[in-house]
Amino acid sequence: MPTQPTDRYAQFVGTAPGTWLSSQLGLPRPAELRRAQPGKRVLDGPALVVGTGLAPLRADLADLLRAAGTDVLDELPEEAADHGGRLAAIVVDATGLREVAELEQVRAAVVPAFRRLAPSGRLLVVAAAVDEAATVAAAAVQQGLEGFVRSAAKEARAGATANLVRVRAGASAADWASTVEFFCSGRSAYVDGQVVTVGPAPAAAPAQERERPVAVVTGAAQGIGAAIAEALARGGAHVVCVDIAAQGEALAQVANRVGGTALHLDITSASAPAALAEHLRTRHGGADVIVHNAGITRDKLLVNTDADRWASVLEVNLAAELRIDDALLETEGALHAGARFVCLSSLSGIAGNRGQVNYSTSKAGVIGAVRAMAPLLAKRGMTANAVAPGFIETAMTARMPVATREMGRRANSLQQGGRPEDVAETVAWLADPRSRGVNGQVVRVCGQSLLGA
Ligand code: NAD
Repeated sequence: MPTQPTDRYAQFVGTAPGTWLSSQLGLPRPAELRRAQPGKRVLDGPALVVGTGLAPLRADLADLLRAAGTDVLDELPEEAADHGGRLAAIVVDATGLREVAELEQVRAAVVPAFRRLAPSGRLLVVAAAVDEAATVAAAAVQQGLEGFVRSAAKEARAGATANLVRVRAGASAADWASTVEFFCSGRSAYVDGQVVTVGPAPAAAPAQERERPVAVVTGAAQGIGAAIAEALARGGAHVVCVDIAAQGEALAQVANRVGGTALHLDITSASAPAALAEHLRTRHGGADVIVHNAGITRDKLLVNTDADRWASVLEVNLAAELRIDDALLETEGALHAGARFVCLSSLSGIAGNRGQVNYSTSKAGVIGAVRAMAPLLAKRGMTANAVAPGFIETAMTARMPVATREMGRRANSLQQGGRPEDVAETVAWLADPRSRGVNGQVVRVCGQSLLGA
């Protein structure tokens, strides 16, 4: 397996002299994040589940966490209790809040509990959809919760995160369960300060999960793509690992490791869309998950960006993806009912980045495509979502100049870079058949980067 670049600073501040020095100088102290491991529970300590206002989802949230093996509390434990009264999670049902004065209930519930949040703990606020609010005040209150959560995420310590899940009217517990589980678990280690909306599953979604789903991952030979292939295979999928012929050996190794198949395909070639659609139809009887991960950078300042640099990046990162989607959706038998599209965007596509006008354009384009596809796909029981990574420890970021790399690593609430598996776990959650109510969303995996909206 390719080794990941090492964050030597984070290692140093984890030692006794490093802890002392960093606290004396007021330097960042990145915590080791709790990450999911096979067999590990969703949460490794008790969860406080509280409701504010009507709180119609509180009981279902508590049941879901109990079923996942969590000790659920409805009030703050004594400090002398197990784990020193520490909480692995605080889950707040705020879906019933309508009046500004009611926001005080959120403050009152969270303030005493927030101090007790364990390292890598979770604050998860469950809210209603703002565009479904019946009054201006209710819309203001529900939107206000975003400010609350994003600021709490910036104040959370020791690897703890805060996120917000909006539940649309008509969505059942089965529709939001995989999302709440994801945000509580170590799988969302590097997802912080995010807002995701879950709706009711489309009527056309298949009722049954397939025993061994087929997933396609482009650019699977290395980096994030290889990690995605591994995460999907761990979840039980047969993974078709796609990459260019020049990556032959590396691709074969990944495909072997995950018990999948290797497919050499330059996604930009004119024949690629039809070839992929035919491969999926004839060899696998259709695919369940398509992950558009292949991507390239050809960085230059705008004034030095020539037509070649422009075209190559737009082709690989956006145009090829759109052509493949068209072919898969038009070829009978290339996709199974309820298929999931997950597309890799980037923080650069949200915030822009110096020297990356071509790349940022392509990655913003990915977001536009996903948002436009989502309602069309819903009619076929399918979904499309985008994942926007921030600074991820890969060969690409290891090549950055030291100062730029250090900036990228520290300029986020978790004060460290993410790992390819953090992106992969996010993709796996969106690809999960249970996530059928998550559609048209853009999820940043960036440790709440200081860049972007
Ligand atoms: P990487 O360069 O390590 O891997 C990309 C893979 O795509 C390679 O194996 C490459 O051979 C393959 N590829 C390139 N052109 C192809 C083509 N025409 N046909 C088929 N395969 C092709 O990149 P990575 O860092 O693992 O990034 C993966 C994705 O995540 C990319 O879309 C990237 O833009 C995005 N992303 C990465 C980061 C990061 O910090 N690494 C941040 C934001 C977004």
